[in-house]
Amino acid sequence: MTTTAPIGIFGGTFDPVHFGHLRPVLEVLEELPLAEVRLIPVHVPPHRDTPSVSSAQRLELLRLAVEGVPGLVVDDRETRRPGPSYTVDTLADLRREFPHRSLCLILGMDSFLGLPSWHRWQELTRYAHLVVLDRPGSAPPAEGVLADWLAERRTESPEPLRSSSAGAVYFHPVTQLDISATMIRHLIAAGRLPRFLVPEAVWRRIVEQGLYGWTAGTFTHTT
Ligand code: ATP
Repeated sequence: MTTTAPIGIFGGTFDPVHFGHLRPVLEVLEELPLAEVRLIPVHVPPHRDTPSVSSAQRLELLRLAVEGVPGLVVDDRETRRPGPSYTVDTLADLRREFPHRSLCLILGMDSFLGLPSWHRWQELTRYAHLVVLDRPGSAPPAEGVLADWLAERRTESPEPLRSSSAGAVYFHPVTQLDISATMIRHLIAAGRLPRFLVPEAVWRRIVEQGLYGWTAGTFTHTT
C-alpha cells in the first residue's frame, strides 16, 4: 500500500516540446492526481534517427516550456546516460530511487501501440504502472500480443495507481490536440510560424539559436 501520490514519468524526444505534450500531462497531473510529472528527454532514441537538435538543446527547450508550472519537472537522467536510452533502464533507475512509491509511466496511444518493439517491454509494468493518453486517430489494440498483455493488466479505475506501486495499465482521456513535433519541424522548414503550437519561450529560443533550419529572413511575416 502506498501512502503518497504517484510520480508521473513522461519520456519523449521532445524535438521540440509542444502543447500536444504539455496540456495532456498537466491534465493527468491534476486529475489523477500525481505528485509531479518528470519530463525526461531521450538522449539516444532507440527507435528513430538521432534528432538534429542536441539533447542539451532539447532539454533547454523543455526547461523553458515548463518554467513556473508547479508539478512539471524536467529530469535529465537519460541525457547523462551513454548509449541508447531504454525506458526500462530509466524505470529501473527511478525504482531504485523510490523503492516503495507508485510510479506511473505516461505514454501517448501511438507510443503504447508500438510497445512490442521496445527493449524488454514486458518488464515495464514490473517497475511502474502505465497511463495511456488517448491521442487523436489511435485506439487500443483489439487483438495480438499487446492486446493479450493489456487484458491481464488493464484497470478501468485509477484506484490501483494509488494503492499499489506498479503493474496496472490505465487509459486516461485528455484534451485531444492533434499536434506533433514532426508537424512543427515541417512548418519551420517551410518558412511558416509554429506559434500557438509551442510555448512562446520555446519559439523565441528556436529563433535565437536558429534551430530546425530557421534562419533570419526565412519568414514573410515578422517573428
Ligand atoms: P515526432 O513527431 O517527432 O515523432 P511527437 O510529437 O510524437 O514527435 P514525442 O517526443 O515523440 O513527440 O512523444 C513523446 C510522448 O508524447 C509520446 O508518448 C507520444 O505518444 C506523446 N505525444 C506526442 N504528441 C502528442 C499529442 N498531440 N497528444 C497526446 N500525446 C502525444
